[in-house]
Amino acid sequence: MATNGLNGTHANGGHETNGRAKKPNLVIVGGSLGGLFAGVALKTHGYNTTILERTPENLLHNQGAGIVAGGDTLEFFKRYDRTGKPVAVPSFKRLYLNRKGDVIHEEINRQNMTSWDLCYYLLRANYDQIDSPYLEGGKLPEIRPTDGQIKYIYGATVTGIEDKDSHVLVSYTRNHHDDNNATEEPSTIQADILIAADGPSSTIRAILEPQVQRTYAGYCVIRGTVPEPEGSPAALAVFRERFCFFHGPQMRNLTYTIAGEHGTTEPGKRLLNFVWYANFPEGSLELEKLMTDKEGRRRRITIPPGMIAPGPWEMVKEMGQQRLPPQMAEMAEKTRSPFVQCITDVIAPKNLYMGDKVVLIGDSLAGFQPHTVASTSQAAFDVMCLVEWLDGKVERREFVRRTMQFARAMQDMGVRIGNRSQFEELDVGEYIEDRNFASIKREERVYPAWTAEGLDEI
Ligand SMILES: Cc1cc2nc3c(=O)[nH]c(=O)nc-3n(C[C@H](O)[C@H](O)[C@H](O)COP(=O)(O)OP(=O)(O)OC[C@H]3O[C@@H](n4cnc5c(N)ncnc54)[C@H](O)[C@@H]3O)c2cc1C
Repeated sequence: MATNGLNGTHANGGHETNGRAKKPNLVIVGGSLGGLFAGVALKTHGYNTTILERTPENLLHNQGAGIVAGGDTLEFFKRYDRTGKPVAVPSFKRLYLNRKGDVIHEEINRQNMTSWDLCYYLLRANYDQIDSPYLEGGKLPEIRPTDGQIKYIYGATVTGIEDKDSHVLVSYTRNHHDDNNATEEPSTIQADILIAADGPSSTIRAILEPQVQRTYAGYCVIRGTVPEPEGSPAALAVFRERFCFFHGPQMRNLTYTIAGEHGTTEPGKRLLNFVWYANFPEGSLELEKLMTDKEGRRRRITIPPGMIAPGPWEMVKEMGQQRLPPQMAEMAEKTRSPFVQCITDVIAPKNLYMGDKVVLIGDSLAGFQPHTVASTSQAAFDVMCLVEWLDGKVERREFVRRTMQFARAMQDMGVRIGNRSQFEELDVGEYIEDRNFASIKREERVYPAWTAEGLDEI
């Protein structure tokens, strides 16, 4: 059986108490999709888990955005979902538009679409029995006697970790809000294993690898949704049940249909979701303008829904009118909840620390550029591999090989395709080839040899 480096205990938890193997206690930092994937899978395998999430409310804000459900995301829900609610809707066609809005290329290509909030609510139902309208057509999962114990602590911002040999001591601040006061209370918790699922600006990674920085890739994504009935006939003709692309100089736009409120896929109640990448050079006035919110605060990475200032939003819409196909410019005009994110790159050199008591997963390990459409799948894949290792089904070395090669290969591919797409003017055929390359299934991918370099030393 594989050992996991926890002071030589067996990977499946090892300490014998009264003849029963006691599984390690795990603390998960971050309660978004990555942290919840970890919580749900580990609970199912009998591990006790505590999630620490810094957001001061019990539920994270709906990100109102579509995501592509990659193979590992679908596999995760197949293995672990107990609600029975379908997580994805397929779209069968990819269309490419020219600047005038005419279809210039069409191909059959199945892609599974889901939304951040549907994934989130299904995972919360599976982890800590949160009921919501997203479960309609499914059910609130049963608790099984073999499940591990769970705890979800919100308003808990992790600030430090200390290697105590047999465990990791995790320090966090508990934020309490009531009508009149906001208080902060320092606290600690012990973890046999700590899972860092705290995203691309990970606190845990910053403590372990302070030299690793999240760097701006030179372009931003402007996102939003429009209710399906508000789309013009010309827009609906290309966006409904289609995945529609436009490539122009220094910009690219993808628009497609996603599930509507509470995950409904009923025609007429869905949303048209646009994802528009545009270059804003580092240090430029335009970038400064775009990233300064309506309260005058310069945001580093994200302007959340409702916070974009009117002036920059007019600038963005005008750019759309001048440079996008009319159907896509229409989406920017009609959306009521636009938001903006700077596209960044980041990758940690390894994913195991403190004698294997700390594991980085998902975006905290590697933040990919978006055309990889692999970020959610990375988190799901990392977790499925982690559980197999902890349960003694794969060796430590195999866990590292699988997760690190995937992270390195996809991160590198994201940078390469991102550069070609945003900073080179290519024939549309080349963009299509890049996109088809990015869509290759993980199991069929051949990783370059350099992605395996040095893994034995981790
Ligand atoms: C709008 C949007 C659209 C996306 N579209 C796609 C897509 O099409 N395809 C795709 O594959 N992926 C997509 N993604 C990315 C995908 O959602 C993430 O890759 C996935 O959720 C895994 O991220 P994560 O959980 O590792 O990190 P995150 O989602 O960044 O979550 C990290 C969590 O950790 C918490 N946290 C951070 N620091 C601390 C701390 N110190 N203490 C406690 N908690 C902390 C944060 O509050 C947050 O909840 C999208 C993301 C967004 C926001």
